[in-house]
Amino acid sequence: MKLISQRITGIVPLIAALGAIVTVYAADTDKNKPLPNANGGAPTTYHIYAGNTHAHTSFTWSHGDQYDKDKKLRPDWEKHQGPPSQHYALAKANGYDFYATTDHSQEVAFDPTSPTNPAWVATKQQAEAATDANFVAIAGYEHSENNGPGGKGHLNVFNSSTYLDALEPGIDLPYLYQWLKTVPPNGDGPVVASFNHPGPNQYNNWAYRDPQITDIITMLEVINSNNKIHYEAFLAALDKGWKVSPVAGNDNHGLWGITHHTSRTFVLATSKTKAAILEAMKHRRTYAALEQNIQCQYTVNGAIMGSTLSRPTSFNFAIAVSDPDTTNPADKITKLDIVKDGGAVVQTFSPTPAYSVTWTPTINDATSKYFFVRVWNAGGGDARDANPNKPVAWLAPVWTGR
Ligand SMILES: [Zn+2]
Ligand SMILES: [Zn+2]
Repeated sequence: MKLISQRITGIVPLIAALGAIVTVYAADTDKNKPLPNANGGAPTTYHIYAGNTHAHTSFTWSHGDQYDKDKKLRPDWEKHQGPPSQHYALAKANGYDFYATTDHSQEVAFDPTSPTNPAWVATKQQAEAATDANFVAIAGYEHSENNGPGGKGHLNVFNSSTYLDALEPGIDLPYLYQWLKTVPPNGDGPVVASFNHPGPNQYNNWAYRDPQITDIITMLEVINSNNKIHYEAFLAALDKGWKVSPVAGNDNHGLWGITHHTSRTFVLATSKTKAAILEAMKHRRTYAALEQNIQCQYTVNGAIMGSTLSRPTSFNFAIAVSDPDTTNPADKITKLDIVKDGGAVVQTFSPTPAYSVTWTPTINDATSKYFFVRVWNAGGGDARDANPNKPVAWLAPVWTGR
């Protein structure tokens, strides 16, 4: 299935079948909280890009596809695993719009921890070299807090100029969160981070949150390893006040996953550049899907998904979901719902199954902190063990401002 960087057009919720654009007018938004990039009523146009936010290359040497099931290095290991440049080349050839490498920073290659560590320098250089007008490569690392104190959990850090080793003495989650506030970015775009394959009580039960770190750790892997779902942890993080948007970390430890893993992180970005894709992540314009090219977007009171409103009591949703594979009945959209605090389902919509669906409900609510949208399709997605009774996509919340 070829990936399409589809453009969705028009004033939301207008949908053209293919080749449309998401356009959001600042004039529609709350005056107190204009949209990012809002400019005196000028529209902001978003494009939907699909990629991977979690991958391990040969710099993660302790385990991965380079070994056989007896943990012996394969004689032909270079067919199974390689440096970031090889991951990027394969991702590019297979239609990804963006791809981040996130090797474990505690691996031998990154020791000693240093801005001039050769593996770290190569990680950044190979990302820069692979980025062109059609493909964005992002250098990141996986911060694996396995030994505490103060909680455990893995996070991906994207676009930092330097890195930490989570296993070194004195480096715990509070240390990481303080460091994230000060580390300079690696060139264009902000530093952003995600909670990886989270359990519902990890990260010391979602502790150490403050407004500044809330705007850096802006994503959470609702999907990890192609079909593992972390929905309970997503709700737990949201209910603890984290403002995270769903992503799909394929967490491939080799080349096989690039061509065989079918789940994707999608971003709504203003252009296909490193800066714009990182900005989309920072502003939580993402969704995770068990699907390679499902197109999802919505606004609430004219503000794009991921936004924070200014405590309205009436919420006008404009939701548009489509799938370009219009000859595959498994990709027909069958159901949408809106979820709020605690995972409570507010409204459900079961249209006549179709490749393009819009839904514009109004919800009156004066107490909830967030809403988000889930999507079902007839086949349950492209991943193994697909189940049409379970959601296929999880979309960025909109926060009410309460
Ligand atoms: Zn991990
Ligand atoms: Zn990983």
